[in-house]
Amino acid sequence: MSQSPAAFLPFTRPSIDEATIAGVVEVLRSGWLTSGPQMRAFEARLSDYLGGRAVCSLVSGTGALELALTVIGAGPGDEIITTPLSWVATANVIVRAGAKPIFVDIDPVTRNIDPARIEAAMTPRTKAILAVDMAGLPFDRTQVYAIAKKYGVRVIEDAAQSLGAQWNGQRIGSMGDITCFSFHANKNLTTAEGGCIVLSDSDEAARCVRLRLQGVTRLEGGEQEVEEAGAKLNLTDVAARIGLGQLDQLEAFNAQRRLLAKRYFQQLDRTLGCTLPLEDFSNTNWHMFQILLPLANLRASRAEVMQALHNLGIGTGVHYPAMHLFKLYRAQGWREGDFPHAEAVGRSTLTLPLFPAMQTQDVDRVCHALSTVLRPLMIAPAA
Ligand SMILES: *Cc1c(COP(=O)(O)O)cnc(C)c1O
Repeated sequence: MSQSPAAFLPFTRPSIDEATIAGVVEVLRSGWLTSGPQMRAFEARLSDYLGGRAVCSLVSGTGALELALTVIGAGPGDEIITTPLSWVATANVIVRAGAKPIFVDIDPVTRNIDPARIEAAMTPRTKAILAVDMAGLPFDRTQVYAIAKKYGVRVIEDAAQSLGAQWNGQRIGSMGDITCFSFHANKNLTTAEGGCIVLSDSDEAARCVRLRLQGVTRLEGGEQEVEEAGAKLNLTDVAARIGLGQLDQLEAFNAQRRLLAKRYFQQLDRTLGCTLPLEDFSNTNWHMFQILLPLANLRASRAEVMQALHNLGIGTGVHYPAMHLFKLYRAQGWREGDFPHAEAVGRSTLTLPLFPAMQTQDVDRVCHALSTVLRPLMIAPAA
């Protein structure tokens, strides 16, 4: 079906080309569906892309974070410093490991964990800093690693959203302690579901390879050994083949995302009073484009704005509510008011459509729809 200009525009959509589809069909016909040659090829290509670091592919980004916490030995009695503004996987994995998330407010400009607030949260129980690259904008590697070094704690990079992003000219995932990527359908590169953990320590990398599949070591002559109970987190060849097709296009995908983000900065009507994301075109991979709605000046809730945009054929999303206000985290003692910056972003953030198959005219359509919806709702008219 051809797409009319008025077709519904979702906030994101994966781009899977015909060559990738044909490749997946070949895998399905090959007789080998689960982890095998495609997975190994995908890992080798990813490792190349990430400057040769060890890559262990997995069934999800959540699995990568869980393995990262296992590898650093995080468990009961340990504290992990993290941001309150992320997909809830970031905090959930800490709870599931038996450790305690210690939230630190965000910098309202980057919307990432505020490095200036981390030291005050350090205790003798701090095991690691789990920082997130929100929307693909890298958290400040320089400051976070300096603090981690000073206190002797590990850094886990939740880079679920930042494949292809950079810090100081170096690709995210090509340096650092432990980097976790997600290949969920909404991410810049997808395998439908998938992820990987990237490590600098070769013993830890080998341990991840064992732990992703029951802890089994394969020995010569078909023998096996198990020293530690592993999980079941291995990536299938079907998924890996999608990833291989996506890797060929990743740079083009991210270039198109940058182009579309630039268009948003050009076309969004600033007199509507929305807060735009940090205008960064050196580091971020533009995984998402999120504005903050000027709710104090609107006669409508975010939900009503989303519905009105939906009625005009524009899909939007909320990424994310502040995690410490979920019941699970309130039960651990976190309260409204603990993290004013994360709470303000969580309440007012709105994810606008941004995906590589979009054209600049689609951005213009979103900007026009935003003006149509917001202008009549404004309490004080635009200056
Ligand atoms: C997507 C995402 C995850 C989890 O990845 P999955 O592949 O969905 O398990 C974790 N953290 C962040 C910030 C994410 O965006």
